[in-house]
Amino acid sequence: MSIYRTVQRVIDAPLASDGEGVVIHRAFPNHELNELDPFLLLDHMGPVDLKPGEAKGFPDHPHRGFETVTYLLAGEFEHRDSFGHHGVLRPGDVQWMTAGSGLVHSEVPGASLVKNGGRLEGFQLWVNLPRKDKMKAPRYQEFSASQIPVARSADGTVEVKVIAGAAMGVKGAVETHIPIEYLHFKLQPGAKHVQEVAAGLNAMIYVISGWLLVGGTSVPAFHLASLTVDKDAVEFCTDGPTEFLLVAAKPIHEPVARYGPFVMNTEAELHQAFADYKAGRMGSISLRA
Ligand code: FE
Repeated sequence: MSIYRTVQRVIDAPLASDGEGVVIHRAFPNHELNELDPFLLLDHMGPVDLKPGEAKGFPDHPHRGFETVTYLLAGEFEHRDSFGHHGVLRPGDVQWMTAGSGLVHSEVPGASLVKNGGRLEGFQLWVNLPRKDKMKAPRYQEFSASQIPVARSADGTVEVKVIAGAAMGVKGAVETHIPIEYLHFKLQPGAKHVQEVAAGLNAMIYVISGWLLVGGTSVPAFHLASLTVDKDAVEFCTDGPTEFLLVAAKPIHEPVARYGPFVMNTEAELHQAFADYKAGRMGSISLRA
């Protein structure tokens, strides 16, 4: 028996498109994996090299009942919502949006990316909220790249951006409703590392580039590995340059009623969300402007 977590399954993140035609690799939901409680979706936007005028986004749409976490690696994305919030994400920036009781927002490529083209790459993660927090007022936490703490191993082969949680004694900046780890690792050839992930947290690794050996299982780029939950650490290594996300959280263990942009506990709450959206109770971006 391993003293570390091992890989439960490895899932391909196939190429897809969403919104107005944004190129994504969607790790889940798909026919292989619907959710990994409390995570509801993981999209790897791009990586894609866009020509001038090609950049597309996600125009006005509502959300209720969960959180969207956007982490940009390349390009520029602009967010705007029905509460008057406006923000521009640049490489390395993180936006942790608690949709809570509901809002309408738009996520579109920044003006310079549209005009000049360029590389777009990033992530969007959906994190469910427990019943008691689903109807909380919407909230934003925004961090520029320079506000994300970075930890490095003594031999320099492991670097990790600590978005949420902790790694190598460095704590992340984001306040979360439930315990969450969101770590972006960059490994150099020959790196070997043991990362603590408290037993009981559901955990996954998504390989961005290169490949990773996790508890004896090889995980290539554009693949997601879900981990066993009973041990409190995971060991990984690589023989080439590799980047990956390690994301983990305490499962909520509540019923999930989900349709499009709304994630509630019951069908009745979903109907209420649609009714509230249609009646304009989540606001509107165009009316506000
Ligand atoms: Fe959205």
